[in-house]
Amino acid sequence: MNLIDAHCHLQDSRLIKDQDQIIKHAIAAGVEYMICCATSEKDWEDVQKLSLKHNSVIPNYGIHPWFVDNLSSDWKENLIDLLLSETARLKNNFTPGIGEAGLDFAIKKYDRALQEKIFTEQLILAKEMRLPISIHIRKAWDLFINIMKKIGKLEGNGLIHSYSGSADMIPIFEKYGFYISFSGSTTRPNANKVKKALKAVSENRMLVETDSPDILPSMLPENKTDKVNMPENLVFIANIASQIRKIPVKEYATQTYSNGVRLFKISGK
Ligand SMILES: [Zn+2]
Repeated sequence: MNLIDAHCHLQDSRLIKDQDQIIKHAIAAGVEYMICCATSEKDWEDVQKLSLKHNSVIPNYGIHPWFVDNLSSDWKENLIDLLLSETARLKNNFTPGIGEAGLDFAIKKYDRALQEKIFTEQLILAKEMRLPISIHIRKAWDLFINIMKKIGKLEGNGLIHSYSGSADMIPIFEKYGFYISFSGSTTRPNANKVKKALKAVSENRMLVETDSPDILPSMLPENKTDKVNMPENLVFIANIASQIRKIPVKEYATQTYSNGVRLFKISGK
């Protein structure tokens, strides 16, 4: 069973020290590719280093909504340069992406107008460069839909990570070409809204992720006592998600794998 972790942060300080072991364990568990998302200008280099060292790491570069403050004046030019050189470097294997980018209105301290500005600029960049974008949205769904109405469909597509919106909105996002990615939040016993959304996603738009080192799945086997989440746990999330979809886990793995291959243009798969 092969899987693609559609969204994680291997560059995080809780994981980067043990990166070789963590990636080795993930591959042994069947996680063939890990989409590793940067969060601010400060970690672009770390994500690039991970991708240079490990063929299974697909890099995404962008500005997370929590880190829109204190950007350098030339952040966008630097991001474009990096994306162009990474696209050229990786062209025989897969495409890099933009992200993690988005809107987080669940936490009040982050400047909402600035989040909207920086996110919109990254969406326009994704459209112009035809690259996939990894999107984080919390409690800002109406604004996100309004922004998409202005920008229109993205040729490089993208994914909405750890989806927490309603099932009703899924057809709207699918119409824009987005993939919908589900995390360990689906494993929580009372996650009824997420489970309903997971059932509503079209087969060819569904992805699965860990968001490591965050969103540790509940219901891990008793012998697993991890304090932080790791890509190898994708197998448990896939198992629970397949039960919610009422399909065999192998079928769920095949569907999400081929969706990841299509989105990130993984060659030879
Ligand atoms: Zn994330």
